[in-house]
Amino acid sequence: MSPRRTSPSSRNDGVADVTVLVLGSANADLVVAVPRRPGGGETVLGGDTVVMPGGKGANTAAAAGRLGCAVALVGAVGPDQYGDLLVRSLAEAGVRTDLVRTSDRPTGLAYITVTPDGENSIVVAPGANSDVSESDVDALAWDGVTVLVCSLEVPLATVVHGISVAASRGARPVLNLSPVTEVPAATLALLDPLIVNEHEARELADTFEGLLDLGPRSVVVTLGARGAAVVTASGVVEVPAPAVTPVDTTGAGDAFAGALAAGLAAGQSLVEAARYAARVAATSVTRPGAQPSYPGPDEVLE
Ligand code: ADP
Repeated sequence: MSPRRTSPSSRNDGVADVTVLVLGSANADLVVAVPRRPGGGETVLGGDTVVMPGGKGANTAAAAGRLGCAVALVGAVGPDQYGDLLVRSLAEAGVRTDLVRTSDRPTGLAYITVTPDGENSIVVAPGANSDVSESDVDALAWDGVTVLVCSLEVPLATVVHGISVAASRGARPVLNLSPVTEVPAATLALLDPLIVNEHEARELADTFEGLLDLGPRSVVVTLGARGAAVVTASGVVEVPAPAVTPVDTTGAGDAFAGALAAGLAAGQSLVEAARYAARVAATSVTRPGAQPSYPGPDEVLE
């Protein structure tokens, strides 16, 4: 069995050595190549199933962990082989896993079919991720925690509560608004930054500056190969990504969020952290997979 500790008394002990908490999902991605997408009532034979660790929360934590950041994931997996796989993968990336609770529900699964043109069709069964609750947030100690990063594959109420508690405990709340979800104004007002990709940004506002009207203290828009834009009341600063030949962009946004949090926790300014995150995420797209593609501190491209 994996080294999971779930009794309330053992949770979050000694969290002082953790500077970043990630509140979010852990999923196993079950990937199969198919010649074409089946229609209703139809069966199509595919290739062998490839199982990969994923989920936005787990990916984000893994990216920060690989960079040497002291990070823990707050989340849940099921009592099954996929949960074990996910916890093992996180531990290998240097992520503390004692706050990953084992739920009665199955581990979150993403069923991904890939057609020869490279297009994905994805069904997500959230399972244990739906169980990540406000009481998981209430069980946390915050000593030494400087950044909380959230994304939205766990219940919105849990994220809203986590951000509120983080702010009240002096930790900097960061939200990767993916998938785009309506978030209360009081929550948005605490974010420093709100992270969105270009598509999400367009759904939310006409201009980068317009994103500040939603209320966050700052916004970072990731721009794929073009890097990222940091938006604050003093203006927009664009940071470049190194020019690379992309192999697999899966999990690039999560790599960005994890590296940004690691940079902020290390005392970088928001622009410095975004510059660093753009380099880390660009490095990750040069290798296959999500978590396996995340670089260590010495591998980050200039
Ligand atoms: P998402 O994966 O959430 O859609 P983006 O596509 O904006 O987000 O990618 C996130 C980050 O990954 C970018 O800010 C950039 O640093 C890096 N990145 C993604 N695609 C490329 C690319 N083709 N070349 C270099 N860096 C990339």
